[in-house]
Amino acid sequence: MEVLRTVTDVRNFVENQKKQGKKIGLVPTMGALHDGHLTLGREAKKHCDILIYSIFVNPTQFGPNEDLDKYPRDFEGDENKLSSIGVDAVFYPTSDVMYPEGYKTYVKVRDLSNILCGESRTNHFEGVTTVVLKLFNITKTDCAFFGKKDFQQFAIIKKMCNDLNVDIELYPVDIVRESDGLAMSSRNAYLNENERKAAVVLSKSLKQAVDKINSYKDCNELISDVTETIKSEPLANIEYVEFRKADDLSKASDLNDENVILLAVRFGNTRLIDNMVVKKGQ
Ligand code: AMP
Repeated sequence: MEVLRTVTDVRNFVENQKKQGKKIGLVPTMGALHDGHLTLGREAKKHCDILIYSIFVNPTQFGPNEDLDKYPRDFEGDENKLSSIGVDAVFYPTSDVMYPEGYKTYVKVRDLSNILCGESRTNHFEGVTTVVLKLFNITKTDCAFFGKKDFQQFAIIKKMCNDLNVDIELYPVDIVRESDGLAMSSRNAYLNENERKAAVVLSKSLKQAVDKINSYKDCNELISDVTETIKSEPLANIEYVEFRKADDLSKASDLNDENVILLAVRFGNTRLIDNMVVKKGQ
């Protein structure tokens, strides 16, 4: 597996592959890789010839009081994991490579970036779309893979690509969970033993709502049910529980449509997100 550190490294690598008619796939990550990240790569290999991961803890998507400095980093461990699934190259730039002195340009998808996680994380999605578009341009990838765990992020990237005529195939990949249901996340490493046990309430509340969907009379009943289940866990502090249309994240009410329950909940200082798609008659 090649380790590419600069834009020129990536350009040379990709140009060489494209000359041979190879289709490129990209999995953007912030590292501290777990099986959720690796599943994106396994899926990607079905759709491309050459697979590139990027590992970059992107400073522009962290707020001033967020966890940029303490975000888990383990490049050696990540390299081994990526080699083990047959990744061809990893792009591992420094901040100076991505944002050289004098950097000024940001990409923002209006409205969609201000709701849900964007309400408490101002500028977060602007950082995400900016870095993702840069990665698309640097790698000239043909397709890119994202987890449904970050459901809003995928909706925003899809909108950006549509609005800006970015000709890349985007693939959403199902959430990979621990055996007890907790969605895998690099941030799970922050949880202490009690918080880790408590965090299972997120997937439990969502699964329960999916299982009971045919018995709810309206979406308010569904939202109250999910909220009450989470509140039964004393260590959980709800930021939001929302019911939205799965395609564009606008407010939803009809239980017969394909909608998504999204939530963000804090356990101590750790903020976790999760979601599940629901539809009556499933
Ligand atoms: P991150 O490194 O957290 O920015 O995540 C990189 C990519 O991996 C994003 O597209 C995430 O949605 C995806 N991802 C993270 N956790 C999971 C998971 N548990 N299941 C599926 N995809 C995931």
